[in-house]
Amino acid sequence: MEYERFSSTVDSHRPWVAAADRYEHFGYRRVGSSGLLLPPISLGLWWNFGDNRTFDSQREILRHAFDNGINHFDLANNYGPPAGSAEENFGRMLRGDFRPYRDELIISSKAGWDMWAGPFGTFGSRKYLMSSADASLRRMGLDYVDIFYSHRFDPKTPLEETIGALDTLVRQGKALYVGISSYSSERTAQAAAIAKDLGTPLVIHQPSYNMLNPWVEHGLLQTLEQEQMGSIAFTPLAQGLLTDKYLGRNEVERSGGRRSLEDQLTEENLKKIQALDALAQTRGQSLAQLAIAWLLRDGAATSVLIGASSTVQLDENLGALQNTEFSAAELSEISSITQGDAGIDWWKTSAIG
Ligand code: NAP
Repeated sequence: MEYERFSSTVDSHRPWVAAADRYEHFGYRRVGSSGLLLPPISLGLWWNFGDNRTFDSQREILRHAFDNGINHFDLANNYGPPAGSAEENFGRMLRGDFRPYRDELIISSKAGWDMWAGPFGTFGSRKYLMSSADASLRRMGLDYVDIFYSHRFDPKTPLEETIGALDTLVRQGKALYVGISSYSSERTAQAAAIAKDLGTPLVIHQPSYNMLNPWVEHGLLQTLEQEQMGSIAFTPLAQGLLTDKYLGRNEVERSGGRRSLEDQLTEENLKKIQALDALAQTRGQSLAQLAIAWLLRDGAATSVLIGASSTVQLDENLGALQNTEFSAAELSEISSITQGDAGIDWWKTSAIG
């Protein structure tokens, strides 16, 4: 008699269950003097979670992240591509997978860069921030985000108006915490004073920060400490430059990046990343792991906001947490390797204001 075989793994309607040991991988870090805690590594959805990637591959990465203790997902109105699609896809994942875990998740969004046509689809007016926050909540199917950011300083709108809009969002229950991104040290101090007066402190700053672009060390970190704010460092791997992808060992890998970093792949920068890689090896780490661990040293970032296009990358990056201690000799070797402008301060103009 012939037996017919059927799959026993069709479970598309069975709810996904997160790993029971998800909080046993690492400790969480307090954001400034607030009640907010973040994982040492957070995941950003800027690039690999739009309509350019399959929903299944996005879901695999997000489930894997959450299973491994990453409970902070960072979004913005314009993440995709196309703009808005990352929030829409994330909303679909929330409905399908993460809804039972909403109270464990820290979900952030932002407004400040170009989102829609006309004068109120960019920068920092009250009109833009309020309507963009509503649109983000709609796309994600949420009542509130955990953190809402002013994505960049607006030189033409009074800072009181931009920060006032953040305060209103908190008072309306649409954001639990608020922060700013890519503001200079001076503007951060001014914004923090305005927020304090309004009674809604800015708890977090999101600056670009990595070994090749340590601009925050020239004033901003000190300001954040004075203001008792935390920080979450974005583009910690210089969009892939601080990984083994561009070490020059493999031309195919070198040309396989998500975007062209050709301008940044100068001989000088290649020498720097090769020297950093050699140091990483003496610590038993990959270059990416060194870059992440370095940002988690004392006095640097509260959380490191990585991007990842696969669970393999995610696992490698999580491996950084095995060794986040640095000797004084290692720190001074890193600063002598990385000295000089690597030309990767892509967000410089927004921090000047
Ligand atoms: P990143 O961590 O510097 O770069 C991530 C990219 O590096 C990945 O997409 C991947 O490139 C590559 N990568 C990651 N791990 C790797 C590994 N182990 N080995 C080899 N390659 C690896 O960060 P980012 O994507 O530039 O930014 C991270 C997050 O920061 C964003 O998602 C967003 O949430 C936030 N952000 C904020 C702002 C702001 O203005 N506030 C601006 C930019 C970013 P492939 O995709 O090519 O594989």
